Amino acid sequence: MDDDLIKRDFDLSANNFLALPSRAEYFCAALTQEMLMQALLFAREQGVAIKIIASGSNVVLPEKISGLVISPGMQGIVKRGDRLQVSAGVLWDDLVKESIERFGLAGLENLSGIPGTVGAAPIQNIGAYGVELSDCFGGLVAINLKTHERHQFDAAACQFSYRNSVFKHPAPAQYIITEVEIALPQIQAFKPCLDYADLRNAVAGGQDSHSPQAIREAVLQLRYSKLPDPVMQPNVGSFFKNPVINLSAYNSLIKKIGPVPNHIEGSFRKLSAAWLIDQLGLKGFRVGGAQVSNQHALVIENAGWASFDDILALTRKVQQAVMEKFYISLQPEPVFFNGDPIS
Ligand SMILES: Cc1cc2nc3c(=O)[nH]c(=O)nc-3n(C[C@H](O)[C@H](O)[C@H](O)COP(=O)(O)OP(=O)(O)OC[C@H]3O[C@@H](n4cnc5c(N)ncnc54)[C@H](O)[C@@H]3O)c2cc1C
Repeated sequence: MDDDLIKRDFDLSANNFLALPSRAEYFCAALTQEMLMQALLFAREQGVAIKIIASGSNVVLPEKISGLVISPGMQGIVKRGDRLQVSAGVLWDDLVKESIERFGLAGLENLSGIPGTVGAAPIQNIGAYGVELSDCFGGLVAINLKTHERHQFDAAACQFSYRNSVFKHPAPAQYIITEVEIALPQIQAFKPCLDYADLRNAVAGGQDSHSPQAIREAVLQLRYSKLPDPVMQPNVGSFFKNPVINLSAYNSLIKKIGPVPNHIEGSFRKLSAAWLIDQLGLKGFRVGGAQVSNQHALVIENAGWASFDDILALTRKVQQAVMEKFYISLQPEPVFFNGDPIS
């Protein structure tokens, strides 16, 4: 075994935004394609499963992870026409900044400030302020972890939907994404997306207020003012997806409980999971060291001593309370690394 490449019994507490105590049997930070291929061969020789943890901003980790954890760290952004080919380890927000400042492209500004890597962005089709990755997705390259073959995926093959894709399921993974292609309009052909009132109000009246740079700054400001800082209060951002229900379910809900804030999505209504949790007075509610944030009802934090089991138990309590009061099933957004899907 290459001791420099593969670490044994690796402490992952600094590799997950919830700061949960967790150790990997084997760990490899793959900074190049070559290191990645060596890591894949190592896993094959040892007969161990592969799990992928990039920045750890959307995972809930158990105390022990068997097999090899790979952290993709490959770097590089190449511009070809209006397309950017981006290696998996580039930080998402660095890409957004570079796309505007260095390449003069627009279209990613609403997605400013989302933590994590470019390689992880397709997993849950990251989205914010009315824009999703799928709106500017050109394709991706992934390696099959069993066969080691390289595959290209277009948008249809990724099966993107709201916070979901063909790649999003509990570990172990089948593919590792190594490169993502972003397709963007030039700034001259750019139409800002200001569907969300918060963002519209934040940019209104500013100088050159609809430029990608101004929108980026407004988004960053809004995010800092709303969300607890994961460095101070370890968390993975929104913990539950906003439930999307059909019109008849929506009508029977408002009959029972009165007006409910919602966003029209074709013949469906998207409800605010934060609002539902807040209505139940669950801000500050704790199980062990896991707590619903006092600042934002959609965020679950590690109060300092949380375990995987505490987070899981709190998740279930919140889901149960929302089901009992509103008859709505809340789905967690982060990926639980216990091998079992939780719903
Ligand atoms: C404060 C905060 C705010 C957030 N805001 C938003 C938001 O507005 N919108 C949003 O959509 N998300 C948001 N998130 C969630 C998170 O930032 C995204 O899901 C991000 O894409 C995760 O990136 P990561 O590198 O940390 O992935 P990780 O958390 O390390 O991994 C997430 C999943 O992706 C898999 N994975 C990671 N990289 C690869 C790869 N290269 N190939 C294959 N599988 C891979 C992992 O196995 C895991 O299943 C937020 C999180 C935080 C902490």
